[in-house]
Amino acid sequence: MMVLVINSGSSSIKYQLFNMKDRTVLASGLLEQIGEKASRLKHRTRQENGEMEALVQTDPVTDHIKGFDKILGVFASTGALKDSDELFGIGHRVVHGGETFHKPTLITSAVIETIREQIPLAPLHNPPNLLGIEVTFARRPDIPQVAVFDTAFHQTIPPQAYWYALPYELADSLHIRRYGFHGTSHQYVTKAAAQYLQRPLEELNLISCHLGNGASVCAVRDGKSVDTSMGMTPLEGLIMGTRSGDIDPAVIFYLSRKTGKSLDELDALLNKESGMKGICGVNDMREIEDLAAAGNERARLALDMYCYRLKKYIGMYAAALGRVDAVIFTAGVGENSDLVRARACADLSLLSIILDEQKNKEHASGLSEIQAKDSPTKVLVIPTNEELEIAEQTVLCIQGSENN
Ligand code: AMP
Repeated sequence: MMVLVINSGSSSIKYQLFNMKDRTVLASGLLEQIGEKASRLKHRTRQENGEMEALVQTDPVTDHIKGFDKILGVFASTGALKDSDELFGIGHRVVHGGETFHKPTLITSAVIETIREQIPLAPLHNPPNLLGIEVTFARRPDIPQVAVFDTAFHQTIPPQAYWYALPYELADSLHIRRYGFHGTSHQYVTKAAAQYLQRPLEELNLISCHLGNGASVCAVRDGKSVDTSMGMTPLEGLIMGTRSGDIDPAVIFYLSRKTGKSLDELDALLNKESGMKGICGVNDMREIEDLAAAGNERARLALDMYCYRLKKYIGMYAAALGRVDAVIFTAGVGENSDLVRARACADLSLLSIILDEQKNKEHASGLSEIQAKDSPTKVLVIPTNEELEIAEQTVLCIQGSENN
């Protein structure tokens, strides 16, 4: 049973082909610079010995339609997929599902139109996601296709946590509320935690920290998201690579008056020029850690601010949950930075979170426990796999629709 997962960007298509019998990746790749002179396809195919063989092609790909055909072509030429008829389904990542989509949804023309209606809520992300869906749906309407929403996991957040304290009718009529993102990742790692702990997910209270270039924390009660740090857009919450996270909203009015920048310019400033990059000029955590170790004051400040904000969120969500069975660290920074994990968990014995420094340092890869023996709360490092989660949800959605 083969499933193709597609993450379509404005000028790129990222994809993975899974064999869902054993969850292996048969092929994966990234087609970049669509519409430009030298589009570049980096493709990897699984060999019989399990190793991935790489292939790079640079030739013009004028649009997403040609891009999709190129990807199917390379599946056929490399033997990953003899015929696209073999595909059980295609899963599409969609960033914003608004209030409409609470779960993965089988794509129809009506669903495409409803996703289009969510564009005002996610003007940067949803249009390229939608383009990928429209192209593949038009090309292969015979293959079942599923939209998997980054926001869906957070649709269980209660009103007290999702409303902003704005005039109610205004917020309601304009759909201004917390939606949350990274839902696919939070869902994947919380399921993996339950499996590892050999306890039903429905009994677990968890704090999941997805720390990548974008970053968010999610409070999970009885297996369900009950709060998360990202809001109506992915700008709120933690300090991120290039996003400010939480700031006093009045800073925006002040900046506007003082600098004369337009709203679009301020939007770009907060999303692309702020966060770690804004503080110390660099957004890659590895580089920031190296700079800080070498005595760079701004890099130190950026790290201090990043870890302090993260620690505050862990504390807030511990208070919201009352009991925390495990704190989970995932994504690029969460899986790899023992420094960030150590500083985010420092002095949290009050909340029953005590890290084992050695275990934390020694963690290399895979899933591991890094809490001290006497820590009532577990601390887990769990590699995320959003693509596999999308593939699994795609299979469940298609099978569910077949049984109806
Ligand atoms: P992601 O968005 O999940 O791919 O994560 C990207 C972030 O992970 C970047 O800021 C990287 O610098 C960071 N990252 C990756 N490897 C490491 C590492 N070994 N130590 C610290 N940060 C890392």
